[in-house]
Amino acid sequence: MTPSSSGPPVARRWLADLAWLPGQGVHRDVLIQADGDRFTSVTPAAQTLPDTTRLRGLTLPGFANAHSHAFHRALRSTTQADRGTFWTWRERMYDVAARLDPDSYLWLARATFAEMALAGISCVGEFHYLHHQPGGRPYADPNAMGRALVQAAADAGLRITLLDTCYLAGGLAEDGPLPLAGPQLRFGDDDAVRWAARVTELDCDAHGMIAPHAQAGAAIHSVRAVPREQMHPVVAWAHRFGAPLHVHMSEQRAENQACQAVYGMSPTRLLYEEDVLGPRTSVVHATHVDDGDTELLGGGQTFACLCPTTERDLGDGLAPARALAAAGCPLTLGSDSHAVVDILEEARGVEYAERLARQARGHFTAETLLRAATTAGHTSLGWPDAGEIAPGARADLVCVSLDSVRTAGAADGVALEAAVFAATAADVTDVVIGGRDVVRDRVHLLVPDVPGELSRSIRAVLG
Ligand SMILES: [Zn+2]
Repeated sequence: MTPSSSGPPVARRWLADLAWLPGQGVHRDVLIQADGDRFTSVTPAAQTLPDTTRLRGLTLPGFANAHSHAFHRALRSTTQADRGTFWTWRERMYDVAARLDPDSYLWLARATFAEMALAGISCVGEFHYLHHQPGGRPYADPNAMGRALVQAAADAGLRITLLDTCYLAGGLAEDGPLPLAGPQLRFGDDDAVRWAARVTELDCDAHGMIAPHAQAGAAIHSVRAVPREQMHPVVAWAHRFGAPLHVHMSEQRAENQACQAVYGMSPTRLLYEEDVLGPRTSVVHATHVDDGDTELLGGGQTFACLCPTTERDLGDGLAPARALAAAGCPLTLGSDSHAVVDILEEARGVEYAERLARQARGHFTAETLLRAATTAGHTSLGWPDAGEIAPGARADLVCVSLDSVRTAGAADGVALEAAVFAATAADVTDVVIGGRDVVRDRVHLLVPDVPGELSRSIRAVLG
C-alpha cells in the first residue's frame, strides 16, 4: 500500500481517530480501506495495521458544493464598501463577467476550486452561463468556457457537475421577457434548441459523463431569463441524459411579482406546470415561497439548495428551510457567490436563520445539516454514490481538527456538533477525493500556492 498524491489512485487504508458513519453516528478507531476511487470496507473499533495512514480529529465524507459561480470569487471584498441590493451587486458582477476569456476563466476557476478543496469540498456544481465572447459571438469551440471549468476542476482535484445554463432573456418585465443586453449577450444561445445543440457538443456519454471527474447537467437560469415556452427543450435534454436540472428560483420578491404579472402564477407554479420540478431537480434559494409553493416542491421531492452566506450577503431574505424539509424537499448547500467558501458555515447558517426567524433553537441537528452537505448534495449533482463513508461509495474523506482554538475541548460525544457549529474551513486538515490525497496538513498538493493563484488570477481580471 502506497499513499499517492499523483497518478492513478491505488489501494489505501486509513485509521480514523473518530469518523461519522451512515446511520451509526460517530465511532472511534475506524479502519477505512479503499481500492482505487471506492471504499471497500469500514470497520469501527479496529486495530491499526501496517501501512495505515492515521487520520486525526473527526473524519467526515467529502462535502458537496451544490451551487457555485466560480468567477464570482473575484468580487469578494470589492463589493463590501457600498450600500445597495442584489440588483446593484449584479451590475458589479456583470463587470467581471465582461472581462473573462477561456484562459482567465480557467485560472480563476482553478484557484477557486482549489480553495474549495482546502475547505473539504470534493464535488462542485458549477452553474455556468458565461458561454460566448463579449457581444455573444461563439468561440471557435462554442464550449471553450465550459471546458475551462472542467479542466480547472481536474487541476484542483475535484469532481464537477457542469450545470450548463440556458439564459435567453435579459429580464422579465410586466409585459414579458426583455432582450439580452450588454454583458448578458455572452450568456445567450438564441433559443433553447440551440442551447441543447451546443451542450450536446460537450460529447458526453449516454450518462452525461464528460470525463471520469466531470458530468454534464442542465440549468434554467431562472424564470426571469428563460421564457416559459423555452423551458421544454432544457427539461427534455436533462431527461435524455438522466442529468441533474438546476434553476434559480424566488431569490427576490421582484421575480415573484414579475412572474405573477406575466404568467399569473408564482415561479414555483410555473416550473411545476412546465415539468421542471422533480427528484432530479434542484431549486436554488427558494427564499420567497409560500405554503402552496412549498407543497408543490416537497410533493415532487425537489431539492432545495440553500446558500445562506450569499443570501445574507445580498440581503435576499430567509428561506423557510424547516417547512421545505418537512414538505419533502431534501436540503442541499452552496457557496454561490463565494462571499465565503465554507460549507460548515453554510450548514449552520441554515439552522441560525431558522432560529432568528422563529426565536427558538434546535430545528436541525448537526447530523441533518451534514447530510445536506454530503449525501443530499452529491445526489443533487448526479453523484448518488458519494457522500458516505461506506463500502462501495466514492473514497472521499475530510478531516476536521478537534484541537484548534475553535474546536478544542469537545468530547467525543459532541464531535459532530463541534464540527458543524464551531469549526470553519480553516479546521479542515486533510482531504482525500476519489482515493487520492488532495490536501495534506492544510496544504493543497496539486495547487501549491492557492492564495497566490487567487491573488494573481483575480488581479488579472480586475486589473
Ligand atoms: Zn447562483
